[in-house]
Amino acid sequence: MALVTGASRGLGRAIAIRLARSGHRVVVNFARSADAAAEVVAEVSESGGEAVAIGADVSDGEQVGAMFDRIKEEIGAVTVLINNAGIARDNLLLRMSEDDFDDVIATNLRSVYLCTKAAMRPMLRAKWGRVISVASVAGLVGNPGQANYAASKAGIVGFSKSVAKEVGSRGITVNVVAPGFIDTDMTDALGDDLKEVVLGSITLGRFGNPDEVAGVVGFLASDDASYVTGQVISVDGGIAL
Ligand code: NAP
Repeated sequence: MALVTGASRGLGRAIAIRLARSGHRVVVNFARSADAAAEVVAEVSESGGEAVAIGADVSDGEQVGAMFDRIKEEIGAVTVLINNAGIARDNLLLRMSEDDFDDVIATNLRSVYLCTKAAMRPMLRAKWGRVISVASVAGLVGNPGQANYAASKAGIVGFSKSVAKEVGSRGITVNVVAPGFIDTDMTDALGDDLKEVVLGSITLGRFGNPDEVAGVVGFLASDDASYVTGQVISVDGGIAL
């Protein structure tokens, strides 16, 4: 079965629905949006799939442990893990508070450590697994105002390449997708002026939609990607060219 963190909204929601369509039973993790997560579960059920919503703050080791225990008891072994949950707390470095730095690192990077570690046991037992983490183009090329966010996303890249080397011989692949500018609540929060500037730098001339990221995640989770590991696949419309 597949666990998608932060699947109540945005990219995670699209990824959960996509994986369910490919036949995976899906856990829709969320932090606060229980109603939105229930809607994702309902959408999956209506199209003949199976999903369960489980609330847990993925930056908190105890909550992650409790979520994995519940999945093991009630649903089965996690063999596909999508580390998607993430937040942004943008500010220029000189104005960035310690809390904004720490919260972003905890939600975006510590969560990847906690969930990937917890998922290793069932994957090693199954001698098969897929770990796919959602980083960002900001983690590859940097972005002013996002030192905390870019550091967390660059951290995901180094973490994933290291774990890929640790578990490759056990049938487990570990990859990263690095989206550019995708239409979700996270990017809605940006001002129109900034959106115009960003748009001008996108080779394909438009923002992406969540399904376009979900498609690449679906590929990495599939047997078609059985010989792909330790890679970072950008899904950014050519923004970083
Ligand atoms: P979003 O619309 O703001 O959704 C964020 C999701 O993460 C929500 O489901 C939220 O749950 C969940 N979440 C936040 N903190 C959490 C926590 N501590 N524990 C569990 N779940 C938590 O964001 P998005 O745009 O879909 O982004 C998804 C991922 O893609 C993030 O990692 C983001 O950095 C990355 N990304 C996005 C873009 C983009 O352009 N949108 C570009 C590059 C990378 P609740 O609903 O319960 O709050």
